[in-house]
Amino acid sequence: MSQAKKALAKTAAKQTPTRGGKRLRAAAVKTYFNYIGGEWVASAGGDFFENLNPADTRDVVGRFALSTAEDVTRAVDAAKNAAEKWRLLPAPRRAELLFRLGEILLRYKERFASDMTREMGKVLKETGGDVQEAIDCTFYTAGEGRRLHGFTTPAEMPDKFAMCVRQPVGLCGLITPWNFPMAIPSWKLIPALVCGNTVVIKPAEDTPLSTYNLVKACEEAGIPAGVVNMVTGYGDPAGKTLTGHKDVRLISFTGSTATGRIVASACAERNAICSLEMGGKNVIMVMEDADLDLAIEGTVWGAFGTSGQRCTASSRVVVHKKVYKKFVAKLVERVQTLRVGNGADPQTDVGPVINADAVSKIMGYIEVGQREDRARLAAGGNRLDTGAAHANGFFIEPTVFVDVAPEMRIAQEEIFGPVTAVIPTNSLEEAVEIANGVRYGLSAAIYTQDVNRAFRAMNDMYTGIFYVNSSTIGAEVHLPFGGTKATGNGHREAGTQVLDIFTEWKSIYVDYSGKLQRAQIDEVNFE
Ligand code: ADP
Repeated sequence: MSQAKKALAKTAAKQTPTRGGKRLRAAAVKTYFNYIGGEWVASAGGDFFENLNPADTRDVVGRFALSTAEDVTRAVDAAKNAAEKWRLLPAPRRAELLFRLGEILLRYKERFASDMTREMGKVLKETGGDVQEAIDCTFYTAGEGRRLHGFTTPAEMPDKFAMCVRQPVGLCGLITPWNFPMAIPSWKLIPALVCGNTVVIKPAEDTPLSTYNLVKACEEAGIPAGVVNMVTGYGDPAGKTLTGHKDVRLISFTGSTATGRIVASACAERNAICSLEMGGKNVIMVMEDADLDLAIEGTVWGAFGTSGQRCTASSRVVVHKKVYKKFVAKLVERVQTLRVGNGADPQTDVGPVINADAVSKIMGYIEVGQREDRARLAAGGNRLDTGAAHANGFFIEPTVFVDVAPEMRIAQEEIFGPVTAVIPTNSLEEAVEIANGVRYGLSAAIYTQDVNRAFRAMNDMYTGIFYVNSSTIGAEVHLPFGGTKATGNGHREAGTQVLDIFTEWKSIYVDYSGKLQRAQIDEVNFE
């Protein structure tokens, strides 16, 4: 959580926005409320926090309800009240509302993308992609309203029928991060709804506007009051209260591995279901037979798209020694052409990072990398904070470390910024060992023209996602998304696999023999 934003929240709280120099500006700033039981309501304490544009913090995107435990409890109560009616609405009818939602998102795509760039910084093309992902997810998952397949299977006794159906888990708490502020909420919200659950969503404090846009669209689509509820505010108390609430049956969380662990422990305390999508330290392997230009493009896109703030970012590149020099020279040359600036400017390649805390963390890692002899800074390395384009935002140069040893911190820990580490290797076998040698297991890629190498790496990488001749980013909504090791806890979002998060199986036996039949005990013979 951003300390800068936290401080602002405190000062913004309860102030009259129409008095005083700085506050006068706030008069024009729109105020956004929580959405509870179909009503847009202020927080119980009447407090707000400010959402700032990371490209220019003088630009206040909006004032959002600073939710307390009381607000969360109200939202949970509203979701609880709506649960039974929503569960009993046939799934194809629930899906009709979601198809309508998809149309609305499509209609507002441009506005939503520009709001998103303003609140979290990534370039317009990428925020358009983020909204498109929510649209794709909505249409794809709404289709499940007419599937939600269960199965039948033979029973072991005669005159007995066996089947298995999905049932909603009940009330779901959705806790989301700021880097995909509409796509990730949609990955959770849409499947939760089609499966017959009601929800309370707590978006990241840095990006409440995109979730507001999504929830507002739900209202416009006619999703009944209480089915979708939104509380804005900080992890503590809002997220924490949601996680600990006895009526919340499931928490679906995406965020840092450290916070995920806290969320998981809180869920374990009360036997709630918990699905976690957390960090990554993703890798691109470049073999000696790779199309180097293609590998460079994939590296630049994977490492610096969203300013490196993706859980799938290519933060390590393991390159065969036979092409290492050439690869590094080309990569550095290409990275130096990238333009850093406001994501709303079509000339910009790399936008700001999210907030002041992110700047400190990323610059801290750059210092760590520079302090060690085992790596060399080959491009970037500086914060950009002078000149009209950069003075008021959180900008960092795209940064490349080369000759990095695999055990160095910059090659092991998630930096979540525009920094990548290039590591030399002698062979595919060694590359795979380096690639697997981190605590995370989200995404990996190989660039090679050799089908045998591609399959070898595909088979040996212990990750949830793998790409051949493509970057570590670029997931599609109809395939499962998630990772191994410290990235997740075994669940997968997207695809049909997400249905296993938001439903529970019910095995049903129908005995039409008219007598007591005891499975495993009574004999069944041919005569
Ligand atoms: P980041 O450090 O990248 O901001 P976090 O993992 O802290 O990521 O945040 C992801 C989401 O989790 C945000 O919506 C945040 O408010 C929420 N969150 C943070 N702390 C907690 C907590 N203790 N309990 C529940 N949710 C939390």
